[in-house]
Amino acid sequence: MSGRCPCSSGDTFDACCEPYLRGDADAPTAEKLMRSRFTAFAFGDVAYLRKSWHPKTVPTALDIDPNQRWYRLDILDSDAGGLFDETGTVRFEARYKHPDGAGTMSEMSRFVRVDGRWLYLDGVVSP
Ligand SMILES: [Zn+2]
Repeated sequence: MSGRCPCSSGDTFDACCEPYLRGDADAPTAEKLMRSRFTAFAFGDVAYLRKSWHPKTVPTALDIDPNQRWYRLDILDSDAGGLFDETGTVRFEARYKHPDGAGTMSEMSRFVRVDGRWLYLDGVVSP
């Protein structure tokens, strides 16, 4: 599959988030995991969202509204989350379209590395 990756990186899907969603590779940084999770939201890939969520904080029920179309991600800031870090934070803005109206979600997400793999821990949504 080619075409631009939904995470707004500017790269093609196969050179960006696809290997992570397919399970062919692990996201090397917190920011890349963040991007791949946005792409999973855009595709409604619940299995990947669960897999990339920390087992302590993953919700038991994870429902995705199929009418909510995530179409743009902006990474505003990130701290640590690199190749040699164990924790990291990523601040982002995600935009969606919905029949009831479009919107923007801003969040500061926390990531931790467990057994070498980055996982989403939790996030604080900004108003
Ligand atoms: Zn991507």
